[in-house]
Amino acid sequence: MNNIIYLDNAATTRISPAVRDVMEPYLGDFYGNASSLYGLGRESAKALAKARHEISEALNCEPREIYFTSGGSESNNWAIKSAVRFMERQGKRHIITSAFEHHAVLHVLEGLEKSGFEVTQLPVYENGIVRVPDLEKAIRNDTGLVVIMQVNNETGTIQPVCDIGAVTREHGIMFHTDAVQALGSVEVDIKKAGTDFLSLSGHKIHAMKGVGVLYINKKIRLLPFIEGGAQESGLRAGTENIAGIVGLAKAVQDAVNNVETKGKKLRPLREKIYREVMKLERVHLNGDYEQSVTGTLNFSFEGIEGESLLLMLDMAGICCSSGSACTSGSLDPSHVLLALGMPHEIAHGSLRISMSQYTTEAEIDKFLEVLPGVVDKLRAMSPLWEQIIKNS
Ligand SMILES: *Cc1c(COP(=O)(O)O)cnc(C)c1O
Repeated sequence: MNNIIYLDNAATTRISPAVRDVMEPYLGDFYGNASSLYGLGRESAKALAKARHEISEALNCEPREIYFTSGGSESNNWAIKSAVRFMERQGKRHIITSAFEHHAVLHVLEGLEKSGFEVTQLPVYENGIVRVPDLEKAIRNDTGLVVIMQVNNETGTIQPVCDIGAVTREHGIMFHTDAVQALGSVEVDIKKAGTDFLSLSGHKIHAMKGVGVLYINKKIRLLPFIEGGAQESGLRAGTENIAGIVGLAKAVQDAVNNVETKGKKLRPLREKIYREVMKLERVHLNGDYEQSVTGTLNFSFEGIEGESLLLMLDMAGICCSSGSACTSGSLDPSHVLLALGMPHEIAHGSLRISMSQYTTEAEIDKFLEVLPGVVDKLRAMSPLWEQIIKNS
C-alpha cells in the first residue's frame, strides 16, 4: 500500500510518528487503570492529568473544562443533548444551526425537533459561509443554543466563529462549535471564540481513531453522559483510553504549533490543483477559494457521477472522496452541496481533495496527471454529458 496517494485527510489521517512514540509506553508496560491506587495506576493518572493540562493550554481554557470522549460524533452528541437539558431549565426551546453541519449534529437536532424543540437552519449561501446578520435576525427570546461548525468538512469553508461567539455572549445564548476540521488548519482559541462547547477528534489530526475531546465551559453544569464510575468528573464513565489520550495531547499540540508551517506548505499545492482542475471543461469549485482551509478543495464535474470518479481514481492508486465519508455508500447527493444551492445532478459529480502535512508536490502532480483522462473517459460514456453538450 506504499504507492497510495492519499488525498482524503478530511475523512481520516495517518498516525504521526511523534504520536506513536508518546503512545508506545502506554501500549506496553504502563497499562495501569488510572483509578487504581498503586504506583502503576498512578502513572496512568499522571499521564491523563498531563494530557488534559497540555490540551487546555493549547486551546486556551482550563484543564477541568476538557473531557475525553470517543471522538467528534460523541462530543457533538454530548454537547447538544446536555445543552438542551440546561435550556429546558431556563424555559427555552429554540436552537439555531446551519444547513450544512455534520450528521452527528444534524441527526441529533432532528431528534430534538420530534421532542418539541424548534430548530432554525441558517443559510450558507453559494460560498458555504453563514452570515452573522442572519444569526442576529434568527435569535428569539427562547433561543438557548447556537450550533455552528468552525470549518466545514466537505468544502473546507471557515465560519466566522469569533463573531458568532460575540453575538451569543451578548444574548446569553450557549454556543457549540464542531472544530474537528479546524484544528491544525486555523486558530482554535476557546477564549477568543467565546464558545461554551467545542468538539475535537483525534483521527483527523494524526492521532488514533476512537478518541476525542469535548470542551465544556465551566459555568455550565451538566448531567452525566455515560453513567457508571467517577471518570471525567463523574460525567462520562468508563476506564480511560490512556494511550489514545496521551497521543491525542501530542497531536493537539503539534496541530496548534504547525498551523503556519502547514499552511505555507500546502498553499502552493492548493493553487496548483485549483489552476489545473479549473482548466477542465465545466468544472465548479464548491465553497470559497479564499475563506477556506488550505488543505481542502471540493469540485463538481458536470456530466459525471462522483462515485465512478472515485472508483477510477482508486484504480490509479489515488484516494479521494465525493464528499463526506459518512454519506458514501448511499447514492444521495451531499446535504452540504445541496445547502450551497447546487442542483442534484451537479452535486452528484463532486470530488473532495483533502491534503495533510504529509502531502507532497509529486503526489499532487501525479493526481493532476491522472484526473483529466479519467474525466474524459467518464464523460465519453455519460448520456448526461451528451445532453449537456447538445444543449449548450
Ligand atoms: C470526522 C468529523 C466528525 C466525526 O468525528 P469522529 O471522531 O469520526 O466521530 C465530526 N465533525 C466533523 C466536522 C468531522 O469532520
